Amino acid sequence: MKQPPVRPGILNLKPYVAGESAIEGHATVIKLSSNEGALGTSPKAIAAVRQATGELFRYPDGGAVALRAAIAKRYGLDADRLVCGAGSDELISLLVRAYAGPGDEVLFPEHAFLMYRIYAQGVGATPVAAPENGLIADVDALLAHVTDNTRILFLANPNNPTGTYLTISEVRRLREGLREDVLLVLDAAYAEYVDKNDYEPGVALVDSHPNTVMLRTFSKIHGMGGARLGWAYAPAHVVDILNRLRSPFNVSLTALAAGAASMGDIAFQDLARQHNDYWLAWTTERLRALGYDLTDSVGNFVLVTFPTEPGRTAADADAALRAKGIIVRGMAGYGLPNSLRITIGTGDEMQACVDALTEFITA
Ligand SMILES: *Cc1c(COP(=O)(O)O)cnc(C)c1O
Repeated sequence: MKQPPVRPGILNLKPYVAGESAIEGHATVIKLSSNEGALGTSPKAIAAVRQATGELFRYPDGGAVALRAAIAKRYGLDADRLVCGAGSDELISLLVRAYAGPGDEVLFPEHAFLMYRIYAQGVGATPVAAPENGLIADVDALLAHVTDNTRILFLANPNNPTGTYLTISEVRRLREGLREDVLLVLDAAYAEYVDKNDYEPGVALVDSHPNTVMLRTFSKIHGMGGARLGWAYAPAHVVDILNRLRSPFNVSLTALAAGAASMGDIAFQDLARQHNDYWLAWTTERLRALGYDLTDSVGNFVLVTFPTEPGRTAADADAALRAKGIIVRGMAGYGLPNSLRITIGTGDEMQACVDALTEFITA
């Protein structure tokens, strides 16, 4: 049978492999593989979803007016400059579709979030990875990889899976070194967790510099990965393009309701941040004290790099954790075959994980 020809690039794609959530032979597992919020979802968001179910026969508000108003209020932004999407993933996809195609290049750091590469290949554009410096994005290397064909530069800040970040002055230097017509997308999925004086998610840069977009998500600190909800803060001309391209009802009725309620639940966000501050520092210190090699993560996860000697490798550690029902994330897909990424979960989960890694390294 003759098949219809597939568009360029798509056959080069490998489907994204999500974090696993089950281990054979274990009825319950500790899932630390997808950077989901440790404290679950705001009770206010859950109540809002329950209330919204009666309206499920209706189409959602395609303009996401109430949700955009809640985001605008929380961060002091102009609601007209916000676009909501089915996860920030959808917004990444829309930006790539809008601004890149065959012959164009989409640039990002070496160990960047995989979706930038996947969506670039999906439109037939060429993904270009610039080397990093000690698992930190390198502004000079990124600028050195810009060509006449570069259309978009994606920077996750902080980055997943390395957990490292660039200071706002470095990000500004990146923007100022880029051609004005290159779109700079600052993916700030973990911004809420960062507690550093020299970090900014990028709002001011979107305002002060042309062609700069900030992306945020409800999947991490808001604990709403299952709802699929993210948002972009962008210049008016980019907002216009995203609104032309997105499907009219891209965000579900329940996601809209949950998102607006969660945005307003600042106490929940504060609690989640405090939890992460404590357990990120605790996990990092314990593992380093055991001799493990960790990056300076500012996200809700740590990246641990293992030696290559047999019995001590990342794969060995992964197997030891699995034997205890603990699922973390292998990083081979990110070009880091000797590393595991471990999400910060509840206190009990982190205790169990550190206990298992203590046993592993002392065995
Ligand atoms: C988790 C994550 C996202 C969020 O994706 P959603 O589609 O909003 O769930 C975006 N970017 C990075 C770097 C992430 O780690």
